[in-house]
Amino acid sequence: MFLNRKGVSPEMKVPSDLVPHCPKCGEPMSMNLRADHTFAEDEGWNLASERYTEFIRRHQNKIVLFLEAAVGFNTPVIVKYSFWRMTHEWKMLFMPA
Ligand SMILES: [Zn+2]
Repeated sequence: MFLNRKGVSPEMKVPSDLVPHCPKCGEPMSMNLRADHTFAEDEGWNLASERYTEFIRRHQNKIVLFLEAAVGFNTPVIVKYSFWRMTHEWKMLFMPA
């Protein structure tokens, strides 16, 4: 546990004036999550997707360790189920529980 200078644990809150806001509509900014219609697949996202796809293609049937970190059931098709599918279908693959 982290204590502040007064010896008490922090409230773990961010002052609202530090939250960035959209320059167009003034709404608070949020992370780019597949939670609603605002998810952005821009050029950077597409380039990263292509790099990931190429990495998976080049490493298929090699020894691969798939680690899920903070992957929930919000959009399981993106990571969780594809990891499960590759774990099932590929040879020489290990996925810790
Ligand atoms: Zn906006």
